Amino acid sequence: MRYPPTLERLIERLKKLPGVGTRSAERFAFQLVGWTEEELHEFSVSLKDIPLKLAQCLDCGALIEQLCPLCENKNRNIKQLCIVATYKDIFAIESTNEYRGLYHVLGALLSPLDKRGPEKLGIAKIKDRIQKLECEELLFALDATLEGDATALFLKKELEPLNIKISRLAFGVPMGSSLDYVDNGTLARALISRNRF
Ligand SMILES: [Zn+2]
Repeated sequence: MRYPPTLERLIERLKKLPGVGTRSAERFAFQLVGWTEEELHEFSVSLKDIPLKLAQCLDCGALIEQLCPLCENKNRNIKQLCIVATYKDIFAIESTNEYRGLYHVLGALLSPLDKRGPEKLGIAKIKDRIQKLECEELLFALDATLEGDATALFLKKELEPLNIKISRLAFGVPMGSSLDYVDNGTLARALISRNRF
């Protein structure tokens, strides 16, 4: 027996979520069918609110609901600008409580395979912000992948002439891990970017 069309559609939509295959989608869908009308309504309101209430800050690209809590915060250090790939990364860095500067979201990393070239990085906007904020330090907080490396190198070349200090997140041995479990690439980069002790 086939699923009723409404259930089928729900399963198809749930399968769009990362890591959700047919089996999980079916499990979630049956769970939702068991919810009360009120619970389903609340859930649907949360979904409807996404395009209505969430937006990206026009300056930094952070995901916000009203005023940007980063750009509008007078206690942040506007001389430091941290370049990240997506707004998700801002939450990760903020949760460390170790950074007090501003951010700039690129939106994507360079990727020749996916035809994402330098024009997608919005270089003019980054330069504009650096000049307006009179930034003294740029911090690249990009993935330690081929795309992340290519993007960091490209940005460095483009922004170096602005005479600004440029740094990149250190690469190293993950906290709590023993050396024999660290892959060669990570260990090699940790050796190259070793710190004075
Ligand atoms: Zn902002």
